[in-house]
Amino acid sequence: MKKETLAIRTQNKRTDHQEHSVPLYMTSSYVFEDAEDMRAQFAEEKQGEIYSRYANPNVQEFIDKMALLEGAESGWATASGMAAVFTFFGALLSSGDHIVSGRSVFGSTHRLFTEILPKWGITATYVDYYDYQGFENAIRPETKILYLETPSNPGLDIIDLEKVAAICKKKNVIFAVDNCFATPFIQRPIEFGADVAIHSATKYIDGQGRTLGGVILSSNAITEKIKAFARHTGPALSPFNAWILSKSLETLSVRIERHSASAFEIAKRLEQHPDVLSVKYPFLESHSQFEIAKKQMDLGGGIVSFELKGGLEAGRKFLDQLEIFSLTANLGDTRSIATHPASTTHSKLTPEQRKEVGISDGLVRLSVGLEHVDDIWNDIANALK
Ligand SMILES: *Cc1c(COP(=O)(O)O)cnc(C)c1O
Repeated sequence: MKKETLAIRTQNKRTDHQEHSVPLYMTSSYVFEDAEDMRAQFAEEKQGEIYSRYANPNVQEFIDKMALLEGAESGWATASGMAAVFTFFGALLSSGDHIVSGRSVFGSTHRLFTEILPKWGITATYVDYYDYQGFENAIRPETKILYLETPSNPGLDIIDLEKVAAICKKKNVIFAVDNCFATPFIQRPIEFGADVAIHSATKYIDGQGRTLGGVILSSNAITEKIKAFARHTGPALSPFNAWILSKSLETLSVRIERHSASAFEIAKRLEQHPDVLSVKYPFLESHSQFEIAKKQMDLGGGIVSFELKGGLEAGRKFLDQLEIFSLTANLGDTRSIATHPASTTHSKLTPEQRKEVGISDGLVRLSVGLEHVDDIWNDIANALK
């Protein structure tokens, strides 16, 4: 079946009630038939859910759908995207191990690399986007994981997944991709040779700004290591949030199509606007990695970034003039969202550091929502005025 169908028709077995919509399994534990059943389940001789920190039907349904959509053997779901990122590194790395990462990563992932993992002797080296030789050169004998976000946030840089996968294969390094901006309806990194796809399900997967969630999709061998770590460290996704996220997957393909169509339209209109210095969108021909984007992405996605001629002050002023757009720390929502990285998420960096990660002072990031595209555009055009 096609992925649109799998996202809808992959579900738990019905109970005796024959419910159409999947029920919510709000239970912290599961009863055993007898003492022998209990012994066997604890000894892992017999499959059983035991406790919701280990397993839950709603959580498993969400994982099963995501694994099918990403083309992964299996996966593990977590309470948030960062719980997924941390669980992944925590499960696979030991003291002395090393990570190679694309320079532009989500803010909290950057903190993990620079402040938290070093406490356990795990370090990371950043490499500039597009510097493929640099990625290869940065890999040392103790490097275990190469980590990327593509498209990157907020610069929307695109990295050639196939090229990086070939380097990782040659160097025997695990290749992991944060696929949060694309979702499997746009890009499936495992099809291009990645070993792992990680998501913050908080963004497009929920898509309605309600819950946090995360998921790690991979091979059975990697999932086993993640499971062994996560069962005893407790980053479990709640059954209620899993139920919401699994339901959300039923509409994700339709939402992603609309987000992408509207964002593409907004990007094209911005490109024509006299007060806009430049526009970045993966499917604009002016994007320097347009050909790579076309190769590995089915659609351009819902995020557009653009640079205002007036710099920092213009960026802040623009945000204040918007009426429909929300100013909020999320993306991928039905509601359009605008952020100004230089005065918010990246304000602690020096202008030089911001430049390194591709953030100029006038850069605005739009998460184009599902409102009518004309209303979205009018709001932008008025604010620009
Ligand atoms: C939001 C985000 C995360 C973290 O996810 P949370 O659900 O907020 O913990 C990780 N990576 C990317 C690219 C994100 O946008």
